[in-house]
Amino acid sequence: MDIEREILETDILIVGAGPAGLATAYKLATTIAADDSLEMPEVIVMEKASYVGGHALSGAVMDPRGLAELIPDYKEKGAPIEAEVSGDSFYYLTRGGSFKFPFMPPPVQNHGNEIISLNKLSGWLAEQVEAAGIDIFAGLAGYDLIVEDGAVTGVQTVDMGRDKDGSPRSNFEPGSVIRAKVTILCEGVRGSLTRMAFEKIPELIADSVPQAYLTGVKEVWEVPAGRIKAGEVIHTIGWPQPSHEYGGAWIYGMSDTMVSIGLAVGLNSPDPTNDPHMKFQRYKTHPLVKKILDGGTLLHYGAKAIPDNGYYSMPKLTYPGLMLCGDSAGMLNPARLKGVHLAIKGGIMAAETLVDCIRAGDFSGQRLAAYQERFDKSWAREELYNNRNFHAGFDGGLFAGLFHGAVQMVTSGNGLFERREHKPDHTYVLKIDEYRNRFGHDPEKQTVKFDNKYLFDKVTDVYKSGTMHEEHQPSHLQIADYDICNNRCTEEYGNPCQHFCPASVYNMVDDENREGKQKLELTPSNCVHCKTCDIADPYNIIRWVTPQGGEGPNYTNM
Ligand code: SF4
Repeated sequence: MDIEREILETDILIVGAGPAGLATAYKLATTIAADDSLEMPEVIVMEKASYVGGHALSGAVMDPRGLAELIPDYKEKGAPIEAEVSGDSFYYLTRGGSFKFPFMPPPVQNHGNEIISLNKLSGWLAEQVEAAGIDIFAGLAGYDLIVEDGAVTGVQTVDMGRDKDGSPRSNFEPGSVIRAKVTILCEGVRGSLTRMAFEKIPELIADSVPQAYLTGVKEVWEVPAGRIKAGEVIHTIGWPQPSHEYGGAWIYGMSDTMVSIGLAVGLNSPDPTNDPHMKFQRYKTHPLVKKILDGGTLLHYGAKAIPDNGYYSMPKLTYPGLMLCGDSAGMLNPARLKGVHLAIKGGIMAAETLVDCIRAGDFSGQRLAAYQERFDKSWAREELYNNRNFHAGFDGGLFAGLFHGAVQMVTSGNGLFERREHKPDHTYVLKIDEYRNRFGHDPEKQTVKFDNKYLFDKVTDVYKSGTMHEEHQPSHLQIADYDICNNRCTEEYGNPCQHFCPASVYNMVDDENREGKQKLELTPSNCVHCKTCDIADPYNIIRWVTPQGGEGPNYTNM
């Protein structure tokens, strides 16, 4: 069906109102306002969540360096900082015990950092952006990245009002085409337009190592006073993760009675039953955690993938008509598991480049390439480069990784090897028989009994994320071949999707047409937009596409 689409023209299109996109918009607006010789260009900031911050989720202990550079008086202006970090500790956990490190390894030292809620900080940054004169369109989701004649020329937004089978309903509204001189992708982790950019413009990632991801599962709890101090930061490694798996956990005191707690699990696990949500629930049974949370109340839940390979997995930052920033560009330091400060710094540099383009009246690819040059000379690049081999150092497991991390610290990030290749995460998961050959037994998922008071099943947790989707729309989880799911994957891997999805979207149910067999059933309305399935499916046949704008989680205090 030929659809006539409204065409909107703008100068600059920023996709995603997270820290990177908002920093770009704020720096752009304030720099232009301070220079009488410049005129404000047309700028559109689009955000797929129903409000700015609705999809923003982070641990989050923020290094304030980026924010302080963007808005030096951010504290006086009322930025929502939950607490200054008041104390740091680092533990190795065994099943029932713990060993406290007598010193804090430099990457996990948090002195001078601030505990934030990223979704509150994003909301506050959005207010600053709008006060500076740039409008943000929340609930507007990008569906297609338009690439024409060797340049990105804009984005098509999602159609609204299609039925499950794709046919238009009475309230059908076709998505618009937004044409822009420059499109800046700041979509966060594994953005669907960013994935398209890498497919349509392979040179963006031709020199990059495939990204390595974790899935972070997080809850926010209200706890009785005396359990934790505002600003207290606890990191743990070890149990419940086996030593061959990458990841770790955090417990942060957002206040004297509010706790951010989460576990991040590597998606390059060999285990086809890898279930970050279940591991997180098990984590909460550890005595160290229980003594903080027990008797408290779960307030919020969320989950999100984290791009964790750092410097060597970064794409080229520009292409004619295109800039990439924040998690979309892999701007995350894996040793510190921190990216907010780098995303903000990336946004500042993107804006500085755009101001030069406006001054010159020239938005050519050559001009935009100055963004990459700025990045290459910046402290952000230096920080990422000095930790460039961190994640790869853990390829041999936790203890090898700790050793490599120590060597990298004294060799400015070089370590014992340089630029170890990383295969896409989904290629690390083992088939059941391969797993048996390697570990001597079948994959066995360790479980807990959910009581939905302290240990929560996925569906109850999803309720605490505020997730909403219109049921009548095409599934935003596109499965290329159900036959693989219902037959080959069941036999070979035991359907890992039913385990790795932290929102119970993928379930195997009895197949009424095949006695004794099961089939895959999807519940897309549960999806918290974490992107794990787009990354971890062993056949790489799941594609996450954007549902209607304004849907997905509605995070608060995350
Ligand atoms: Fe995450 Fe995919 Fe599950 Fe959605 S369906 S919650 S993106 S794993």
